[in-house]
Amino acid sequence: MSHSNIQTACVHAGTIIDEKTRGVNTPVYTSTSYEYLDVEDLVYPRYFNISNAESLGKKISDLEHGESGLVFSSGMAAISSTLFAFLQNGDHAIFQKGLYGGTFNMVTKEIEKYGISYDITPDNEMASFENLIRPNTKLIYIETPSNPLLLITDIKGVAEMAKKRKLVTVIDNTFASPVNQNPIDHGIDIVLHSATKYLGGHHDICAGAAVASKEYIQKIRKTAFSLGGSLNAWTCYMLERSIKTLAVRVKCQNENAQKLAEFLSGHPEVDRVHYPGLPGHPGHEIAAKQMSGFGGMMSFELRNADPVKFQKKLKLIRPSVSLGGVETIICSSILTSHRHLTMEEREREGIRSNLLRLSVGIEDTSDLIRDIEQAFKS
Ligand code: PLP
Repeated sequence: MSHSNIQTACVHAGTIIDEKTRGVNTPVYTSTSYEYLDVEDLVYPRYFNISNAESLGKKISDLEHGESGLVFSSGMAAISSTLFAFLQNGDHAIFQKGLYGGTFNMVTKEIEKYGISYDITPDNEMASFENLIRPNTKLIYIETPSNPLLLITDIKGVAEMAKKRKLVTVIDNTFASPVNQNPIDHGIDIVLHSATKYLGGHHDICAGAAVASKEYIQKIRKTAFSLGGSLNAWTCYMLERSIKTLAVRVKCQNENAQKLAEFLSGHPEVDRVHYPGLPGHPGHEIAAKQMSGFGGMMSFELRNADPVKFQKKLKLIRPSVSLGGVETIICSSILTSHRHLTMEEREREGIRSNLLRLSVGIEDTSDLIRDIEQAFKS
């Protein structure tokens, strides 16, 4: 049964009915050894086909309006398996400006070793993608909203342009989560997630996911067999349980983030706020068309305060890495996600040293605002 309402899908999609005990939760099947005689398909965790991985893949695929889903041991496992499934020696790929630092590293440090060439767009305009297309281009990869500057790319525009040229389109939908944005509805072929973030939601799971057509997921799975980034049954269960509250968490995070972005953009100690829910954000109009909520992520630039000292003064908001959990956390991108970029690369990407990225949780916003105010004053 498919569920048209996201809150219902979060709770029920993919659940394995426990016929034996009639309990309401998906049972955890821990075996890594399965009988192989007289079966059609061999079952093994690294073949991505144990029951808990399959049911979780189904759940995430339903949330993203896809045909099929695969779960991985990290977001990077989902990203690398997908890229290597579709790209081979001699191919060319186009990546948008403003990628998550780990993806940027993989693209700039790994894929050329395998004879794959690439270009990164100078901005997120359609013409910039189009200008980079070569006869051997196979794939376009976008991330919107992007990490950490919340750049917005026109999903439908990219999907339509790519379809005309038979290029595969891939999106990292981590920042939006399936609650705020469903790129398959706009024509994108493959949706990727770092499930470590909103899908997990409690800063205690490391996982990834890919959602696409059955054919494309089968292709990714074949490559993923060899790369080996599968997810164990216990973590599948934990992630499935976490996703039950995804929609309620993200709706609260959307509301909190909007309030915080408005507060910060009016603050004398803040130079700039990057949040697509603010009317002054350059991607606001496109975001409003393709997102049903603007998400819980933002970044802002400090006017005078030293970013490290400011973070140390916060009492409730913890300076820590990762994002998407119920706790509000803050980090300096140049010291965390983008620390491996050279100064030149950071400058080109527009990531300044006074930039702080805020992952807004589900606390009461008045407490968060009070914490930020006291850090500015003390
Ligand atoms: N994509 C985005 C937007 C991210 O922020 C991250 C991690 O921070 C990743 C992908 C990689 O995910 P993971 O750390 O689960 O491998």
